[in-house]
Order: sequence, then C-alpha cells, then structure tokens
Amino acid sequence: MKIPNHIKMGAHKINVSVSQGNIEGFGSYSDCYNLIKIESDVDYQESNTAQIFLREIIEAIKFKYALSIDQPNLIVLSEVLFQILVDNKLNFGKGFIFPESIKVGAHKIDVELVLPRNITGSGSYNNYYNLIRIEKDFDSQESNMAEVFLHEIIECVKLKYELSIDHPHLTVLSEILFQVFRDNKLNFGKCLV
Ligand SMILES: [Zn+2]
Repeated sequence: MKIPNHIKMGAHKINVSVSQGNIEGFGSYSDCYNLIKIESDVDYQESNTAQIFLREIIEAIKFKYALSIDQPNLIVLSEVLFQILVDNKLNFGKGFIFPESIKVGAHKIDVELVLPRNITGSGSYNNYYNLIRIEKDFDSQESNMAEVFLHEIIECVKLKYELSIDHPHLTVLSEILFQVFRDNKLNFGKCLV
C-alpha cells in the first residue's frame, strides 16, 4: 500500500514522513508537530513499513484522545490488527462488505448479521464461540455497522491477547480509527505480504 503524505484525524492534518535513518525504533509520532515519521530504505519490507504506519496512527489517536493504553499493549494491538486487515483484505472504505468469517491469528471468527430483536446493543463478540454478531435492520446505516464491526474486531483482539484497555477507551479508539481509515481511504488489506 502507498503511504500517504498526510492523513486527516478529526479536524487535524497529520503529516507523514517516510525517510531513512532519522528515527529510533522505526517509527515515531510527535503530537506537537502532528507528525508521523516512518523509517524506510530500499531493503525495508513493505509489511514492516505499513505495520509501523498503523502503529503510529494508533499512537496519534492515543495522544489526541488521551487513551490509556500502554506501549506493550499498543504494539500487540497494532500487530494483530494489521494481520487481520491484511489476511482478510478488509477495506473500511464506503460500502463495506461484511465477510462471513475472518482469520484472527490461527482462529476462524464467524461474522453474523442479526435482527435487533436477536441482540442486545449494536454488536457483540463471544470469545467462546469465536463469533462476532452485528445488528442489522432495513434502515441500519452502513457506516454504523462497519464501525461496530471494527469495534468488535478490537474486542476480539483484546480478549484473545488479554490486552488491558477499558471499554470507553476502546470505543473511542474504534470510532477514530474508523474515521481515519474511511476519510483517508486507507486500505491495509492491499498490503503485499
Ligand atoms: Zn464493546
């Protein structure tokens, strides 16, 4: 995937610079300059560059919205989320197409769209049955359903990998991540891995 030179996050423009040898740790985010820096050179692997870009997007959301998620948890979340986006070719652009199942690590997670009377709330994840369920009615809004799906994917990663992230913070993260994916037409599913 092509890394854009800037992205829109909320009402902010976040610049993205991809260059060689200017950072420690392969990626960084500076909240005072609204700047994501990614280390790259000719030998660098596309999967690493794209994964670090996703990690720094989550890092930027963490700073802008004061999310309580520590570095080890953020690294695991961004790595697993990257695997899910790439392996399942998920593209959260307009007109999202729901898959029947997704691969999370070595697990197959089933995805069901169900009528409101069969579910409490707009979505759920059951870690025993490896099952994501999304509320769908005739007048359900596509953007709501797609965002709920991203939310339940993060719920799945949280439970499978025992990540520590409170529900209100998870809700903010999925809403903003969805905005960033959709408004900037980011398609991590197109990464060649
Ligand atoms: Zn939830």
